[in-house]
Amino acid sequence: MSDLILFWHRRDLRISDHTGLAAAREKSPKIVGVFCLDPQILQSDDIAPARVKYMIGCLQSLQERYRQVGSQLLVLQNDPVVAIPKLAAALQAKAVFWNWDVEPYSQRRDLAVIDALKTQGIEFLNYNWDQLLHSPTEIFSGAKTPYTVYTPFWKNWITKSKAKPVKILENITGLTEKEEKIAQQMGTINLPTAEDLGFIWDEELIISPGELAAQTRLDNFVKSAIYEYQEQRNFPAVDGTSQLSAALKFGVIGIRTIWQTTIEALAHSHSEEVNASIQTWQKELAWREFYQHAMYHFPTLADGAYRDIFKKFPWQNNEEYFQAWCEGKTGYPIVDAAMRQLNQTGWMHNRCRMIVASFLTKDLIINPQWGEKYFMQTLIDGDLSANNGGWQWSASSGMDPQPLRIFNPVSQTQKFDAEAEYIRQWVWELRSVDSEYLITGKIPPLECHRVNYPKPIVDHQKQQALFKQLYQQQKQRE
Ligand SMILES: Cc1cc2nc3c(=O)[nH]c(=O)nc-3n(C[C@H](O)[C@H](O)[C@H](O)COP(=O)(O)OP(=O)(O)OC[C@H]3O[C@@H](n4cnc5c(N)ncnc54)[C@H](O)[C@@H]3O)c2cc1C
Repeated sequence: MSDLILFWHRRDLRISDHTGLAAAREKSPKIVGVFCLDPQILQSDDIAPARVKYMIGCLQSLQERYRQVGSQLLVLQNDPVVAIPKLAAALQAKAVFWNWDVEPYSQRRDLAVIDALKTQGIEFLNYNWDQLLHSPTEIFSGAKTPYTVYTPFWKNWITKSKAKPVKILENITGLTEKEEKIAQQMGTINLPTAEDLGFIWDEELIISPGELAAQTRLDNFVKSAIYEYQEQRNFPAVDGTSQLSAALKFGVIGIRTIWQTTIEALAHSHSEEVNASIQTWQKELAWREFYQHAMYHFPTLADGAYRDIFKKFPWQNNEEYFQAWCEGKTGYPIVDAAMRQLNQTGWMHNRCRMIVASFLTKDLIINPQWGEKYFMQTLIDGDLSANNGGWQWSASSGMDPQPLRIFNPVSQTQKFDAEAEYIRQWVWELRSVDSEYLITGKIPPLECHRVNYPKPIVDHQKQQALFKQLYQQQKQRE
C-alpha cells in the first residue's frame, strides 16, 4: 500500500478553501484528484448543455490548479461504483476521500462505493459537508426535528458560529510515471469537451468557468452590487445579483470564503442600509442551505409535492401551452422575456424564475414537475435542491406556510420592469411596441399582428379563478 490518497471531486471543483482536501493533506502529502464522468448522470434527461460546458471548463481549470501545486486530476468515464474502487486498488491507494452530498442519488451511489472500498480493504473518508456552512445534522428545531419553514431555520442558522476558509492546498506530490501508466490502463482519459459528450452549447457561457473566475466574480460583487442588493436584486434589467449560483452548484468557490467576505463587508459598512443589504444576501445563502437540508431530510421531495393536497392535484397539462411557455411565446411579455433569457443564456433572474413558475402552475395549470425538469434541462446553475425548492415554493406544493401564492404577471411587471427594459432586451419583436402595452400586457391585437407576437394564450383572471376552484375541490376531497 502506498501513501497515495485519491480525492474524488464531485461538486467541489477547486483546491482552495476545501475541507476534504485539507483533511487529506493532514494524512499525506501525496494527493491526486479524480473526477468521474458518471454515465447515469450524463445520460439522464435533465442535463443542460450550458451546464455541462461550464462544468468541463471548471474541470479544465481544476486540472491546471492541480498541476500548479504539483499533482494531477485524473478523469474517468464510467460508473463510479466500479471505476473509483478499481482505480484505487490498482494504484494501491491508502485511502479515497470525498465530500458528502445531500442528493438522494449521490447518497445511494456513495454507499455503494463505500461497500466496494471496504471489500478491497481501502480506507475512505467522506464526512465533510464541504459545500455547506452547517451540515443537515447540525441544525434542528427545539423539538429536535428538521425545519420545514425557512424563517425559524434562518433565525437558528445565523446564530451558529461559522467556520473560516480553509488553507489552500499546496506542495503536494502526484503520481509517478509508472503509476500514471497504471491509471491509464484502469481507464483514465483526457478530459473530453462538452461536444464530445454530446452536449452542444454554441453560445458563449454567461459565466466564466473556474476557480479564479469565481473568485473575481465574488470580489467584484462585494466591491459594488452587494451594497445595494436589497434595493436592486428584484429588478431583472439590473445587474444587481452575484451570479455565483453556477460556481456554488459546482463548488468552484468555497462557501466559507463567500461567508467570510460578507463578514468583512459588514465590518466595513457604516450604514444601516448597507448592513441590511449584506444581510439580505446572507439570507439567500441560507435559503440555499435550507433547501439542501430539506432534500437531505425529506428525499421524497425529489419525486414530487411535499403538501398532500398537491400529490394528486388535477393538473391540466396542456402540451401546447407547455410548448409556448418553453419557447417564450405565451403572449405575456414578462414571461416570454424570462424564458428567452433562459433559452439564450442558460440563466434567469430570480424574480423571473418565480414569475414563470407561478405562471406555469397557476395560469397554465401545468404540473410543476414539468417546469422543474425544463429548468434542469436548461439552467447553467441547475441544482436539484434549489430548483426543487424554488418550484415547490412557487407551486405552493412545498414547505411554505402560505397556502396559496399566485403572481400576477402584470403587477409583477409594473413593480419590477416598469420601463419594460428587460422585456425589450429579450423579446426582440416587441422593441418598437409602446411601454404602456408591454407593462399592462394589453397589446392590441393589431399590434401583435404587426410585430408577429402571439396574443395571450390564456386569460390570467379566468385561470386564477379556475385554479382556486380546483384547489378548493381538491381540499374537500382530502
Ligand atoms: C423556480 C425556481 C427555480 C430555481 N432553480 C435554481 C437552481 O436550479 N439552482 C440555483 O442555484 N438556484 C435556483 N433558484 C434560486 C435562485 O433563483 C438562484 O439561486 C439565483 O437566481 C441565482 O442568481 P445569483 O447567483 O445572482 O443569486 P444571488 O441573488 O446573488 O444569491 C446568492 C446565492 O444564494 C443562493 N440563492 C439565492 N436565492 C436562492 C433561492 N431562492 N434558493 C436557493 N438558493 C438561493 C444561490 O446559490 C445564489 O448564487 C431557483 C428559484 C426558483 C424560484
